[in-house]
Amino acid sequence: MIWDKDIECMSSEDMQELQLKRLQDVVYKAFNEVPYYHKRYSEENVYPEDIQTLDDIEKLPFTTKTDLRASYPFGLFAVDQKEIVEIHTSSGTTGKPTVSGYTREDIDIWSEVVARGLTMMGIDENDIIQNTHGYGLFTGGFGVHYGGQKIGATVIPISTGQTLRQIELMKDFKTTMIIFTPSYGLHIAEELDAMGIKPSDLNLKAIGFGSESWTEEMRKQIEDKFKTPAYNIYGLTEVIGPGVAMECEQQEGLHIYEDHFYPEIIDSKTLKHVPEGKTGELVLTTLTRVGMPIIRFRTHDVTSIHRGRCGCGRTFVKMDRITGRTDDMLKIKGVSVFPSQIEKALLSVEGVEPHYQIILTRPDILDQIEVKVEASPEIFFDNIKELVGIRDKLAQAIHDEIGLRVNVTLVEPKTIDRVDSGKAVRVIDKREK
Ligand code: ZN
Repeated sequence: MIWDKDIECMSSEDMQELQLKRLQDVVYKAFNEVPYYHKRYSEENVYPEDIQTLDDIEKLPFTTKTDLRASYPFGLFAVDQKEIVEIHTSSGTTGKPTVSGYTREDIDIWSEVVARGLTMMGIDENDIIQNTHGYGLFTGGFGVHYGGQKIGATVIPISTGQTLRQIELMKDFKTTMIIFTPSYGLHIAEELDAMGIKPSDLNLKAIGFGSESWTEEMRKQIEDKFKTPAYNIYGLTEVIGPGVAMECEQQEGLHIYEDHFYPEIIDSKTLKHVPEGKTGELVLTTLTRVGMPIIRFRTHDVTSIHRGRCGCGRTFVKMDRITGRTDDMLKIKGVSVFPSQIEKALLSVEGVEPHYQIILTRPDILDQIEVKVEASPEIFFDNIKELVGIRDKLAQAIHDEIGLRVNVTLVEPKTIDRVDSGKAVRVIDKREK
């Protein structure tokens, strides 16, 4: 089944024509309606009429998370706030979050793209979707919710947690699709196993997952435990949320909904396009978004894109699963964390030195974070009683900053390696990639 055959199987010539028209429109609108773009483009001496071909997009400056934050809260809206019907923000960032505003039309676009993706996974109005992604300011829950309703499926908005309840509902409601992060999925699988419930006792026919880095091995493990195919969902709040790209039954990369989101792959050092099929940083432009057009947003996600007709019949360009980041952002339990946030928290507590290491492990299925930090000599050698209090304060300060519990270990002064080829090794990621 294909949700919208005319669009999803469009010839590449027609698609490019549509994209160019939409790109010209969005650049024109952004320049005229959003002071941020007007200023940036005027400074760079580039104007809407300079966009004559799709390649001309390279003339436009990039938009970064910093730009979005500087426009907090509503500086990037292209319409009056009264037109905005919903707001989301990005999760786990330093300082102010980045805001994403949606008009009624934007919500319709979001519903539409997720509807296409769920259809790709073989889901229709007869299905029951159990959505364990969090509902709230985070976009994870709502994307699937809107898309699921659009295709007429029954959505169970249960959010994350309450695993026993999840299992009870999976059985009682005869859930046919479940949405989870890979690590939460493995957790559910363990509980099922402990309760002696076999995949054949359930009615699952598809799993959708995203918002965490994962490997093909992890996918196989999940598919094996649930005896159900698992499909990848990609998206980011700044652009729209989950639903920028989703995986079809071929399970060989995600179709990007390129009539709404124009993808580019750049070399993150030269900032120039890399040849098709080569790996680089994904840059996205919203071609149709009304409330908050985002032009050339640097995602910092590493992937490559491929053209050509897919085995499923669709012509939409495909991207590989994300294999890394071009900045130092860490994804821990689905939350974005920068080492600088942990550093900031450490430095807010007295009695420690600015020498630390963040060690990430995945002992069974859930990520664990240990932060090793050097105690100051006075404390370590003369005031051992205080150490416990300091350790608790550090753990609290880090929790306040990133929203995650960490294990803090205070170590003897000068025991953490200072440099490795000129750069301190701040992060040791022992999780399998
Ligand atoms: Zn396909």
